[in-house]
Amino acid sequence: MITSEEISTLLKKYDMRRLAIGTIGSHSALNIFKGAKEEGFKTVCICREKDTIVYRKFQLADELIMVEEFSEILDDRLQEKLRALNTLIVPHGSFTAYLSTEQLTNDFYVPMFGNRQLLNWEADREKQGEWLRKAGLKLPKTFKSPEEIDRLIIAKLQGAKGGRGYFLANSPEHFYKKLDEMITRGLISREDAQRIHIQEYVLGVNVYPQYFSSLINDDVELLGVDKRYESAVDAIGRVPAAEQLEISLSPTYTIIGNIPLTLRESLLPELLRMGDNVQKTAREIAPPGIIGPFCLETIITDKPEIYTFEISARIVAGTNVGIGTSPYAYLKYGEKMYMGRRIALEIKEAVKRKQLNAVVT
Ligand code: AMP
Repeated sequence: MITSEEISTLLKKYDMRRLAIGTIGSHSALNIFKGAKEEGFKTVCICREKDTIVYRKFQLADELIMVEEFSEILDDRLQEKLRALNTLIVPHGSFTAYLSTEQLTNDFYVPMFGNRQLLNWEADREKQGEWLRKAGLKLPKTFKSPEEIDRLIIAKLQGAKGGRGYFLANSPEHFYKKLDEMITRGLISREDAQRIHIQEYVLGVNVYPQYFSSLINDDVELLGVDKRYESAVDAIGRVPAAEQLEISLSPTYTIIGNIPLTLRESLLPELLRMGDNVQKTAREIAPPGIIGPFCLETIITDKPEIYTFEISARIVAGTNVGIGTSPYAYLKYGEKMYMGRRIALEIKEAVKRKQLNAVVT
């Protein structure tokens, strides 16, 4: 694990008047770059050839560092270049998709806005559950063995992209029958089948509140809410039930985009408390807790009850719905506040108060 002393030493060589905000060119990079520029920072994009059109057309990257693969950000020369440009890295979903937690916590010697320690908590389903339960959140019940299934469940594969190979079942017999079918159809390997996570299926709607944990202001802000637009699950309702049965459709959850949401105001007290409690617990398990953006992935039932099935302790792509502003960001800041800009503002404020060490790891 890279220590805070090592990061402090790196920062001492940085020119604080010429800081740049950098990230990998994908996910929420446009959001991060726009926010950085609006707060007066230079921007650095680590980019693949095939994606450069995005950053050329929108003109949001001052420096394009070309790579074949995103994992090249671990190369010594590239790290050196990032440091020479006084870059603070903002991690997003592509970092954990293309690099392991170990690589990010042990081998990447560029200051990051965020708490690297929490990557370990986020990557491990058990630890994540422990964190969220400790924060008092309601989680879907998990089943240790298929024999215990007594209600509708969702079976999840470890690290499945887009929920490929997920399936639903409502009894042990149903579970084994479905599992066999999935194996026969080549959607699940026998090896995967050993490591399936069985979770109560919560009947409700997807709601993803986006928070910002400010260490500078000692506050957790709600900056936006979105829901996901997923293929093919959001299309299945358009196929009549008779045909669904005939072609034995299994839902997949490949995320295609995000849709902004505003919620019943009566849901806000609980959602705001949930954000505060998640940060309070994070401070205990991995001081100083979450630095910057995080998102809870929830399902809200018709009661309404809020179930949390996952946390992302970093910026999520759902915040892209708020580029410009969102109702919640507007309520707090007026126009032109959104996650990318909020990050840059926090960095700016930290520099001004000579507390940059407190918000990078
Ligand atoms: P995940 O891969 O965990 O992000 O889940 C993919 C999709 O499955 C999301 O769109 C969720 O809405 C849905 N999902 C995950 N867990 C549950 C659950 N316990 N109950 C109902 N739907 C779920």
